[in-house]
Amino acid sequence: MKIVVLKFGGTSVGSIKRIKNVANIIHSYHKKGYRLIVVSSAMSGVTNDLIRKSKEISENFISTEYDVLVSSGEQAACSLIAARLSHIGLKSRSWLSWQVPIITNDNYKNAKILFISKKKILDYLKKGGIPIVTGFQGIDINNRITTIGRGGSDASAIMLAKFFDAERCIIYTDVEGIYTTDPNKLKKARKIKVISYEEMLEMSSLGAKVMQPVSIQDARLNRINIEVKSSFTKKTGTLITKRKNIINNKIIAGISSTQNDAKITLVGVKDKPGVAAMIFKPLSKNLINVDMVVQNISANGKETDLTFTIKTDDLKKTKKIIEANKNIKFRKLLLKKDVSKVSIIGVGMVTTPGVTFRMFQSLAKKNINIQVISTSEIKISVLIDKKNTKKALIALHKEFKLDYYR
Ligand code: ASP
Ligand code: MG
Repeated sequence: MKIVVLKFGGTSVGSIKRIKNVANIIHSYHKKGYRLIVVSSAMSGVTNDLIRKSKEISENFISTEYDVLVSSGEQAACSLIAARLSHIGLKSRSWLSWQVPIITNDNYKNAKILFISKKKILDYLKKGGIPIVTGFQGIDINNRITTIGRGGSDASAIMLAKFFDAERCIIYTDVEGIYTTDPNKLKKARKIKVISYEEMLEMSSLGAKVMQPVSIQDARLNRINIEVKSSFTKKTGTLITKRKNIINNKIIAGISSTQNDAKITLVGVKDKPGVAAMIFKPLSKNLINVDMVVQNISANGKETDLTFTIKTDDLKKTKKIIEANKNIKFRKLLLKKDVSKVSIIGVGMVTTPGVTFRMFQSLAKKNINIQVISTSEIKISVLIDKKNTKKALIALHKEFKLDYYR
């Protein structure tokens, strides 16, 4: 049986008109002969509204009831879709997670899907039905309702695709796909036709907020092809797949940039074992997220400089913590706001020499000073002055030939 999972996000089902449109999209796949499992999120704003209500009842709203409450938006959306499909003459019904059932652990508010029972849904598919399954929710072994974390209906869709061995999982959302860089920052950003899981993971952890990184990782582990597309246009979206499926790969798939970063340098810290740990321990205890870290080679063997980046919001707190840290000595503390991390991402750099050079050279040509560099297998990041971000994006986008659709 050729199964395709279709997932609709909150904005795609955000109004009655949009739900009717979603029903038409489902109908078009049905006409092509696919067996469909549809997953829906709550109508946009509904989950937030329920969370607001819970806070008004109690700041410590009991978590078992919290999940019953906040998962209810999905029930309404699924029923509306199923009823609209019935209206246009298709066999469809809603499936709440307990009816499937979708089994999770009992980590309320942030549960993990462990198992999805196939039997009832398969029977229903065989009878020609279109099941509309609630995203975001599950039940634990005690039959209590659970939810799997904000934005969790992506993960619901991926797990359904996994258990039902679906050919593809199509994520309908309010953007047309994944772009070479943020289209709001750069007009020349282009939609990417196909991208590997690894590249997508880097892009999304660097800020391309189209899908939850966890669900991309799940898709990668289970080799599920994902297509991200908009429910508002008929245009093709972006396919996220394994590297092997990508021919004519560009060296660089995309470029990302961050906002609101700050840089901290400790000048003249002792160059001996344990110093870095002493610096970072209280920061991690205070949940301050440290990103790029570099330590200079010490010129005299006694002292060195240590630089790292954090979010600007954490700057004051970080300064306090470092100044209060009795376990470390340094000569000077330098703080700099308004820096930005610009990263180029692409599996092609593994096999293509000279990518680093090309990146540095094109920034140099634009007179952009690089303050910190960090690399991973498929990513090179540089820290620059925030005011140069756009200039850097333009230069790199051109250098790596991303100005044209691939
Ligand atoms: N409705 C849930 C939320 O807003 C789940 C989702 O949208 O994926 O977090
Ligand atoms: Mg959502």
